[in-house]
Amino acid sequence: MTDQASLPLHPTARAQHVLSLLAAEIGDKISTNLSVCEAHSHGEALEIANMPVGVVFAESTQDVSATLALCHHHRVPVVAFGAGTSVEGHVTPPDGAISLDLSRMTEVMAVNSSDLDCRVQAGVTRQALNAFLRDTGLFFPVDPGGEATLGGMCATRASGTAAVRYGTIKENVLGLTVVMANGEVIQTGGRVRKSSTGYDLTSLFIGSEGTLGIITEIQLRLHGQPEQLSAAVCQFENLEDAVNTAVEIIQMGIPIARVELLDDVQMQACIRYSNLDNYQPLTTLFFEFAGSPEAVKEQITVTEALARDNNGLAFTWADTADERATLWKARHNAYWAVKALHPGQRLISTDCIVPISQLTTLITGVKDDILASGLYAAILGHVGDGNFHTLIVTEETEAGRQQALALDRKIVARALALGGSSSGEHGVGLGKLEFLAAEHGEGALSVMRALKATLDPRNILNPGKLLPVGPVFKG
Ligand SMILES: Cc1cc2nc3c(=O)[nH]c(=O)nc-3n(C[C@H](O)[C@H](O)[C@H](O)COP(=O)(O)OP(=O)(O)OC[C@H]3O[C@@H](n4cnc5c(N)ncnc54)[C@H](O)[C@@H]3O)c2cc1C
Repeated sequence: MTDQASLPLHPTARAQHVLSLLAAEIGDKISTNLSVCEAHSHGEALEIANMPVGVVFAESTQDVSATLALCHHHRVPVVAFGAGTSVEGHVTPPDGAISLDLSRMTEVMAVNSSDLDCRVQAGVTRQALNAFLRDTGLFFPVDPGGEATLGGMCATRASGTAAVRYGTIKENVLGLTVVMANGEVIQTGGRVRKSSTGYDLTSLFIGSEGTLGIITEIQLRLHGQPEQLSAAVCQFENLEDAVNTAVEIIQMGIPIARVELLDDVQMQACIRYSNLDNYQPLTTLFFEFAGSPEAVKEQITVTEALARDNNGLAFTWADTADERATLWKARHNAYWAVKALHPGQRLISTDCIVPISQLTTLITGVKDDILASGLYAAILGHVGDGNFHTLIVTEETEAGRQQALALDRKIVARALALGGSSSGEHGVGLGKLEFLAAEHGEGALSVMRALKATLDPRNILNPGKLLPVGPVFKG
């Protein structure tokens, strides 16, 4: 390799130099095209943008390893890019960085029906995996709304509507192939359901947002498709009644497959966007029940009784596969429904979570904050986990941005005061950095910084994300 001292010092020139060396190793999988770079300059938070010097489209673990080895040697920052659906500025490159796109790594490498597991490359999306599994009787349950990659989902510790029953991505990953900052390739975990040997490196990389290593392969748990699925909708005149119903379902231990809340504002947007003509613009719970016919019947009986006791209106049923698909598609399109209603305006999706017993206090408090702010904001969420989002709409001006951030800060402050977290599933990126010290304390943060300094001593992996700058734990 070229001696570092002889290299150009300007970050952009250094990255260009690395790209030219890399071209000799991996061929034409590199682009410096303006529109390709623009597409990799941001995630779903469109305004947090900065152009990469170039984009490497990795097709194998070897491509990732070659890229990191060169970037490490020449101290060039690298930002992993899956589908770019993250919402906190996670994939926005710093100056002089290379974007490392894994979306061409789309092979489902093995499906082991008898062990209920599979191995995939990091660029496989959850939708593509489930299409692949359709005839096996198995499925993969973690379903963030976007068309996310499984590598990106691991890196953000994603979840979705089914986490209340099947867990988040963290509970559904058995092992990983990870390329370290210097290009070395390691394996973590394995195929067994549990192991008590060594540090749990798989968990360390899950949620590390591309700051500790690049995930290239994932060993995933799969689940048997349930014998029966049934979905229902219940509307409420009162937000508090709806949240109390969801909380009581969890407290009673009902193994519900999904329970999602859409407040009146969100429901109004969904009715228009997804043509949900049979519903009123009222706070609504979407339910899904799964299991044997007897188990489903029992879950429904108890859930209906709880909803009735909390003044819920009559259940509307979606029994056919088509009706269920329409319902859950409308739920997954909730963000786009709000966006479509406000063309040309800014939309910020916040995220917070509290222990389930605190959820009613938090959501009703947030609704008061929204009303006091005078902003348009919709509440929706995975309430069975104590997790929800507020979609805040403002003008595309700096004043509008500050209004949205002020509301977000109030929401997070409420969640932290109730023993919660500033993000249940979206992660930190750049957007949540300011809350980390309050949530974790300086002691824990300095241990995280020590881990980062050990695994990525030249700070080339997604620098500036996930960890606020500060003192490092010395032991
Ligand atoms: C409409 C909408 C709805 C959403 N709903 C949900 C939801 O219900 N639940 C939820 O959890 N999230 C949700 N999200 C957020 C987003 O979909 C998730 O964060 C998702 O996991 C990101 O995956 P991605 O492939 O797009 O990753 P990207 O956005 O490309 O990357 C995210 C982060 O992971 C890193 N990264 C990507 N690939 C790798 C890799 N192979 N190795 C190491 N690091 C990597 C990146 O550097 C970045 O830091 C939603 C987003 C949108 C737009």
